[in-house]
Amino acid sequence: MNSIVGRLAIYAVFFLVPVLGKPVEKSEWIELSYPFNNETIYWPTAVSFKHTLVFENYTSGGFYYASYDISASEHGGTHIDAPRHFAAGKWTADQIPLHHLIGPAIKIDLSSKADQNADYEMTPSDLQEWEKKHGKIPDNVILLAFFGWGKHWPNKTMYLGTDLKNTSLLHFPGIHPNASSWLVKNRKVKMVGIDTPSIDFGQSKMFKTHQILYAENIPGLENVAHMDKLPTKGFTVYAAPMFISGGSGGPCRIFARLEDRATSADVRFQVEVEVLAIMICLLFGFLSL
Ligand SMILES: [Zn+2]
Repeated sequence: MNSIVGRLAIYAVFFLVPVLGKPVEKSEWIELSYPFNNETIYWPTAVSFKHTLVFENYTSGGFYYASYDISASEHGGTHIDAPRHFAAGKWTADQIPLHHLIGPAIKIDLSSKADQNADYEMTPSDLQEWEKKHGKIPDNVILLAFFGWGKHWPNKTMYLGTDLKNTSLLHFPGIHPNASSWLVKNRKVKMVGIDTPSIDFGQSKMFKTHQILYAENIPGLENVAHMDKLPTKGFTVYAAPMFISGGSGGPCRIFARLEDRATSADVRFQVEVEVLAIMICLLFGFLSL
């Protein structure tokens, strides 16, 4: 009897070792876009998203068929600003090179400052503070400014500061032109992103950050969603904008992949599981003698 129990235990352990000891797959995909629907927030003066039914039913031929027409402004919901939006002669949506739309990214967390002040603008010292904690902003990185503004989506009054068409009533955080100039002069970011409707704050009249960054062919991602799920660094951003010939921007699917983080703790756990399994195996083997 003992011998049978022992052998069963040995088989069980040998079966469990590869299962329990297998390294855990740590990569994770994060959605960074809002869906397009009748709640999608657009600039107060822009045309909103329309999704108009053409047909949705079984046809006379007996097969199912669905089709809709779509229309909207280029600039609304989760979208890209091509540099051409504010800089003559710079890239249109279709001219942005693919390698410019994908790459390692960092997140600058200014959510506590935005909580205190809806008109907060990221400053050069915010960037320098980040560098003190996390190291120099790497070359060719995608820089995401996080203000925690996604918590207001899709409430227009909270997200834009107003649900009226009067743009002087807009209140939301953005990137101060001084921070944009500092980045252009001192660092080499390839794209910026923000979790508010615009890279310039709501009260901007001259859209200087748009002018400064787009003049350097640095595109902007606006209304980026779910940035709260991202770490400070260690992730890759993928932005796939609509391929509009001559477009000043367009709807954009944005997502991120977190780096595989097989930490030393994971490796230690794996070794511990295997040692434990061998010990159980030996113990039952011994008892079964
Ligand atoms: Zn835009």
